[in-house]
Amino acid sequence: MSKEKKNIAILGSTGSIGTQALDVIRANADAFTVEVLTGNGNADLLIKQAMEFNPNTVVIADESKYAYVKDALQPHDIKVFAGNKAISEVVQMDSVDMVLAAIVGYAGLESTIAAIKAEKQIALANKETLVVAGDLVTALAKQHGVNLYPVDSEHSAIFQCLAGEWQNPIEKIYLTASGGPFRGKDAAFLATVKKEQALKHPNWEMGAKITIDSASLMNKGLEVIEAKWLFNLKPEQIDVIVHPQSIVHSLVQFTDGSMKAQMGLPDMKLPIQYALGFPDRMKSDFPRFNFMNYPQLTFEKADTKTFRNLALAFEAMDKGGNSPCVLNAANEIAVDAFLKDKIGFLQMSDVVEKCLQTVDFIGKPGYTDYVETDKETRRIAEEVVQSLKFKV
Ligand code: NAD
Ligand code: MG
Repeated sequence: MSKEKKNIAILGSTGSIGTQALDVIRANADAFTVEVLTGNGNADLLIKQAMEFNPNTVVIADESKYAYVKDALQPHDIKVFAGNKAISEVVQMDSVDMVLAAIVGYAGLESTIAAIKAEKQIALANKETLVVAGDLVTALAKQHGVNLYPVDSEHSAIFQCLAGEWQNPIEKIYLTASGGPFRGKDAAFLATVKKEQALKHPNWEMGAKITIDSASLMNKGLEVIEAKWLFNLKPEQIDVIVHPQSIVHSLVQFTDGSMKAQMGLPDMKLPIQYALGFPDRMKSDFPRFNFMNYPQLTFEKADTKTFRNLALAFEAMDKGGNSPCVLNAANEIAVDAFLKDKIGFLQMSDVVEKCLQTVDFIGKPGYTDYVETDKETRRIAEEVVQSLKFKV
């Protein structure tokens, strides 16, 4: 008996995760159909994807491109909408079984919440959603009986290690970090690096924002907070270990001292496919790991003195409340400013630190508190960027 196909809504289909998810779906056309595609800037790619996958609905977040996309897709009987509100609406369609949340940054929060409230299963790539509002999002997921299937490779690794262990408590987890392109460098070096260097990740090809976050170790900081919420952990149960080869994707240590790790070549298609296909492991032709190519797997301590972002993320997590939301918003502004050559690499941490010190603390925020915190932090972060701008 053949199983019914899973209908997927891909939010952020034109991005790095989105396009790789479509590769997975193309290779598993008997298991999945694409019901919704959404993009922001790259209208031509969105149109091309829609022509190939023939979804029910397409949303272009950038409203100025609506007419262009609509004209292109009208003859193909594909519905077209524009704007972020529309994304939050289309995820609720009855025909959608699962939503892949692969929009980057805070912009993905609202649609993910809308999908959870509509009781859609979630494959979660958008880690910022859990960093900003982890308590609210996980509580909603519980209330609506929705599973959050991690797409982030480290969290997918933990999730895979936990299969068959649901009743066994976790003692701690180790999130592995590649260390990024500047591993081992000192502050004097980092002060001079340009975006072109930071955008060259040794092991992964990803969108610009997460690539910068990986170079600054903010990505690992965001992942620590993401892990706290996904696996219901206390801050002291989460550790980070630098593993430059990116083969061990993360580890779980159980209460008997036994550790499980998940390994494989660094390829996001694997965690994407695991999240979309769960609980099945679907056959794939992804390249296989060869021990002879990796005679040594090495591990080292993360340098949180030089890469202050990781320490700031741990601080924000410990403090709780709206602090991680502040951390995220400040970082989004800082990364954008770095990508526009307005501030230096190390000054990204200055922006984040200043915002964590300045923005009013809220211990038990609700949704509107998060919206306000995000807005206020962006305003302050822009001011900090302006004050730093001329000192580069
Ligand atoms: P990306 O920049 O390549 O793609 C982002 C997607 O979101 C694009 O489709 C873009 O059009 C859309 N988008 C951007 N701004 C938007 C807005 N304001 N409104 C609506 N849509 C918008 O990013 P990515 O690398 O694919 O990352 C996506 C998410 O997945 C991020 O949260 C990232 O941290 C996470 N993630 C990515 C990787 C990776 O390998 N790329 C790995 C782990 C986790
Ligand atoms: Mg990751």
